[in-house]
Amino acid sequence: MPFELQPLPYAEDALEPYIDAQTMRIHHDFHHGGYVNNLNKALESYPDLQNRSIDDLIRNLHTLPEGVRTAVRNQGGGHFNHSIFWSIVAPNAGGEPTGAIATVINDVFGNFENFKTQFNDAGAKHFGSGFVWLVRTANNKFEIISQPNQDCPWSDGHYPILCNDVWEHAYYLTYQNRRPEYLKQWWNTVSWDAVNQRYATATR
Ligand code: MN
Repeated sequence: MPFELQPLPYAEDALEPYIDAQTMRIHHDFHHGGYVNNLNKALESYPDLQNRSIDDLIRNLHTLPEGVRTAVRNQGGGHFNHSIFWSIVAPNAGGEPTGAIATVINDVFGNFENFKTQFNDAGAKHFGSGFVWLVRTANNKFEIISQPNQDCPWSDGHYPILCNDVWEHAYYLTYQNRRPEYLKQWWNTVSWDAVNQRYATATR
């Protein structure tokens, strides 16, 4: 199997009370795990693609054979997006942004409160399933965007720095229909160290 589900880098109850342990287990093991299994299945008859990284497949989605493109977009996108999502949250995190990303947030969005408000609004207003992203665009601007399902801005050349998952599976057990409350609480789990690492890669 070319692609593998990596274990969570922390315990499944590590993000409580903001994200409950059962949500983390189901989300990681079965939702993310399902994307990985389905991606591997979809690539069975495409051995050349099995040797490419998920980053490469998502970035070059439009060049893939038509017969597998939708599967990579959905299942590969699910794998890629969730891998980012787990990596930018951590226990004992949250608080004010630090380092270079703090400067970008202040320069582009005025201050952290404005940035959070815009990001949370984009997530709350996104109809149905999807992700909200902070990206460095292909022409080197920093923007908040939301995209449906498992679509990823990286397929359009926009480097994903930070994302939140607004699929109901990400929050329903604790927050039910209260997506705005989930969006607000989720900032308590954001690891600015991890976000700064992505920012460094985005601007390299
Ligand atoms: Mn998800």
